[in-house]
Amino acid sequence: MHGFGGVEQLVYEDTDQPALTEPTEAIVKLRAAAINHIDIWNRLGTTGMVTQLPHILGADGAGVVVEVGEQAHNVKKGDAVCLYPPVGCGRCEFCLTGRDFMCVHLRVLGERLEGTYAEYVKIPAENCFAIPAGFSFEEAAAFPLVFITLWRMLFTNARLKPGETLLIIGIGGGVASAALQAAKKIGADVIVTSGSDEKLEQAKFLGADHGINHHKKNFVEETNALTSNRGVDVVLDCVGGEVWQKSLAALTRGGRLVTCGATAGGQPNDDLTAIFSKHLKIYGSTLGSREEFLQLLSFMTVSQIKPIIDRVFPLKEAATAQRYVEEGKQFGKVVLRIGA
Ligand SMILES: [Zn+2]
Repeated sequence: MHGFGGVEQLVYEDTDQPALTEPTEAIVKLRAAAINHIDIWNRLGTTGMVTQLPHILGADGAGVVVEVGEQAHNVKKGDAVCLYPPVGCGRCEFCLTGRDFMCVHLRVLGERLEGTYAEYVKIPAENCFAIPAGFSFEEAAAFPLVFITLWRMLFTNARLKPGETLLIIGIGGGVASAALQAAKKIGADVIVTSGSDEKLEQAKFLGADHGINHHKKNFVEETNALTSNRGVDVVLDCVGGEVWQKSLAALTRGGRLVTCGATAGGQPNDDLTAIFSKHLKIYGSTLGSREEFLQLLSFMTVSQIKPIIDRVFPLKEAATAQRYVEEGKQFGKVVLRIGA
């Protein structure tokens, strides 16, 4: 990426191969990368996270370790690995208490670190984890960012339990479709909303119990009708904007709202009265801890959940792939195939 702006800023070209600079690092020959919305915001320059140009985008990747620093012992040459995207400073209060994803000097692959839309990436070896059994490189690249995000939101923060009702606003994106899969696997009742009947059908195919077209119907009225006027236990709202207040209204007493984004606007018209009178909890988070990533890897293996992949593009068509994601037509992840 040579500048901030449209997809024309993405150029497929040769650059210097990364070399180890610390004995704790590894070089991974990538076989796949996945596209996330954050890549697009980084390209547009709205995040302020990309500080050097030219820059390589991409927070998600999987491949084979080809070089390891002499102090790195968790992986060896030839290991097939997926990547945990955040890298902490190792010295701040948050890093020292196992929360490096909250580091005050946080660097994430594809933001302050060169990313995964590339044949090779340099990363701390401790960010490399064995690919879950039975996963292809494409599947292994497609899950880390969205699944670690939803894992922390739904299970660590909201403590979603079997038998509870989860409302997912805007099914189709990576986090939303991953949340549907994981919540169904633990036995939650899942209601999803979308403006597309086709996406609602796909969600039902994946196990959603109810689908609401929010362009045609008021989802608060609909969720109340579906829950005998009780409301839902948990709402996943990464949309914000005008939807936010409805999301709060859809919750039952003591309900929890989780958010990891505000695609429709970050300044909702909030109803504070509902928050205290209904004893609501609101959790914001991005990413998750290493411990949560290990829980997640184990869950993926045991549950045999695989990320939903909508389309795969070759690396050199990264610009086309990003445009496809910007159009919002996908259901699940869009992946870049690298090499081979
Ligand atoms: Zn730190």
